Amino acid sequence: MSNQSFLPMPDHNGMFGEYGGSIIPPELQKAIDEITLAYEEIRQTDVFKEELRDLLKHYVGRPSPVYHAKRLSDDAGGAQIWLKREDLNHTGAHKINHCLGEALLAKHMGKKKVIAETGAGQHGVALSAACALVGIPCEIHMGEIDIAKEHPNVVKIKILGCKLISVDRGTRTLKDAVDSAFEEYLTNPQDYLYAIGSVVGPHPFPAMVRDFQQIIGEEARKQMIERTGRLPDYAMACIGGGSNAIGLFTAFLSDESVKIIGVEPSGKGLDTPDHAATMTLGKPGALHGFKSYLLQDENGQPLPVYSIASGLDYPGVGPQHCYLKDIGRVEYTTATDDECLDAFMKLSRLEGIIPALESAHAVAAAARMAKYLPKTTNILVNLSGRGDKDADFVAEKLGL
Ligand SMILES: *Cc1c(COP(=O)(O)O)cnc(C)c1O
Repeated sequence: MSNQSFLPMPDHNGMFGEYGGSIIPPELQKAIDEITLAYEEIRQTDVFKEELRDLLKHYVGRPSPVYHAKRLSDDAGGAQIWLKREDLNHTGAHKINHCLGEALLAKHMGKKKVIAETGAGQHGVALSAACALVGIPCEIHMGEIDIAKEHPNVVKIKILGCKLISVDRGTRTLKDAVDSAFEEYLTNPQDYLYAIGSVVGPHPFPAMVRDFQQIIGEEARKQMIERTGRLPDYAMACIGGGSNAIGLFTAFLSDESVKIIGVEPSGKGLDTPDHAATMTLGKPGALHGFKSYLLQDENGQPLPVYSIASGLDYPGVGPQHCYLKDIGRVEYTTATDDECLDAFMKLSRLEGIIPALESAHAVAAAARMAKYLPKTTNILVNLSGRGDKDADFVAEKLGL
């Protein structure tokens, strides 16, 4: 498999095979095209590259380490599990990587306000921090249910000076927060930038957010070679919209020997309505301005979805993941709420690392597989974020 099969992706219409694109009202296309142009221009410049590189190093704390989770591996009883520690980034997750990029782009374009949705609140916190740093007003839309569940992040968003909009319509979670944020954006697309929180939405967002997240895999690939003398046998990450996953996967797509696996939330079970396993059970459809696999009813309307991890609770998925599934380069599997909680506690008690519930899905699937693999096999898992935000919720759930 050559680089050529994957890069450059997407094509000039923002398509990854038959997925992606830009399905938006014509009056919005002009503002979106300006973002595409500004991004294409700015990303080539040394000033922008240098400013972002400098912030990633001195503000975020990159490179994040790769850690060999020996006790977790021993407990699983097979392959070695290695964790890419995005949880150690400033603001606690991978999201800061693209939020800094989006905030710098907004400043460059002279935008007056940055608007976004948030699920677990990680995107909200990261974007609030980035906007505070860059000096641009920020407005975050968040579902009422998520606001109740993710209190620590809600407070941080406010402290960081961002306006928080509580969304009380529909399922009062991520999808409705996106709808609400998008409506606000539509009131003045010239002056506002919609800073999407994952590799979703109309072109150029799936490509742009991926480019900003690519550093995860670039670092991890080097680090694994330094630590083990070779490439990992597996690269794994959880999938909400798919940004931390594509950030890790991109560096390995052309490495035929590396098996790549995305992990979706099967919630209370794939045979119940309470899951968000879009790649596994979705069918091609359109949502939020792009085409992807979608959990939908017979009329093409998005189904209500569920996961114990608010950040994975989305009925669509990044278009590049759909393409990578169809060509067979990436495999997509699932982990349930119970498996996630089990992995959350295991990683905490065996390694002293409290993961985000989102990331715990990837850890759960890795540990499940590790059992059946030889001790010489190396599984690289993206630990996308830390679990401070989830600690109270889990303690209550498990009666600790
Ligand atoms: C937001 C979030 C996710 C899910 O988003 P992706 O775009 O799929 O990466 C996963 N992990 C953490 C810690 C998050 O905050």
